[in-house]
Amino acid sequence: MLLSRFPRVRLGHLPTPLEPLENLTRTLGGPQLWIKRDDCTGLATGGNKTRKLEFLVGDALAQSADTLVTQGAVQSNHARQTAAAAARHGLKCHILLERRVPDTEQAYDRSGNVLLDKLFGATLEYHDPGLDMNTEAELVCERLHSKGAKPYCIPGGGSSPVGALGYVNCALEIVNQANERSVKFDRIMVGTGSTGTQSGLVAGIEGSNAQIPILGICVRQPAAPQEAAVHQLVVRVAEKLGLQASIPKERVKANGDYVWAGYGIPSEGTLEAISMLAREEGILLDPVYSGKAMAGLIDLIRKGKFTKDETILFLHTGGSAALFAYEETMASILR
Ligand SMILES: *Cc1c(COP(=O)(O)O)cnc(C)c1O
Repeated sequence: MLLSRFPRVRLGHLPTPLEPLENLTRTLGGPQLWIKRDDCTGLATGGNKTRKLEFLVGDALAQSADTLVTQGAVQSNHARQTAAAAARHGLKCHILLERRVPDTEQAYDRSGNVLLDKLFGATLEYHDPGLDMNTEAELVCERLHSKGAKPYCIPGGGSSPVGALGYVNCALEIVNQANERSVKFDRIMVGTGSTGTQSGLVAGIEGSNAQIPILGICVRQPAAPQEAAVHQLVVRVAEKLGLQASIPKERVKANGDYVWAGYGIPSEGTLEAISMLAREEGILLDPVYSGKAMAGLIDLIRKGKFTKDETILFLHTGGSAALFAYEETMASILR
């Protein structure tokens, strides 16, 4: 897989660190836990969208675009990283924010990612939930185009075949680091939402024949539709990469047990995971994605789903900027 075939700009501080979670491993009594620090990609407090944006902005510039348009939930980490990437490359940025999360606290609309979107100079518009937001973003692009602008439309989460190349790249990075460090990973766990991260990883791990199973922890919808959506994008990424063999559906596994009340709503387990990683490892998770994914990992370990001598890699996808929008929600773990 030669990723240098595809247009790309450099936005991330790569490779991100690969670290053992010694304290958490001890507390839980095994398996051996490691963490891939994609919360440290370096752009605007970091996160997984940075890798996708390297290829998306590369593609936008190759098409002579002058404006990035994208969409997400109000506290979208993708929106924040897109706004920063646009600023860095002299592009305008317009973001459609969906009021997807019910009953939020006051800080939710103002602090965290929203504050940073504005700081990076993006223009924002708000939408009530229930619309097809990718279609809404395309309509905005058509309007901008008719006024003479050159918009580049990025789907929610940057999860197009182009964006997913960023996680093909991450898969290659993980395989290299594992070989350098002589660590044999038996499994990779990652939060899965708009699907680009898991799709890129699956395509990259398959394409390099590393044979590491990947389990996505759902943050928005049940496992069956999530697996179908991830696999759909895997097929398109594999095609883009020109992989010879098709990637079977069984390579895409997701667990929907930790979505709890829905997208953007943390459970007790989510809050416990945030607290544990903060106090035992000095690592920040978030209430929407990485906290839920880690809650899944911790719960599955407690239920004995993994053997003690297994080595598991948790891919930290970032999101800590959203913590500031959830201060009241986190009251029970603050002291
Ligand atoms: C977007 C996001 C995810 C999910 O990645 P997808 O590619 O959308 O599936 C996970 N964690 C964080 C912090 C995110 O911002």
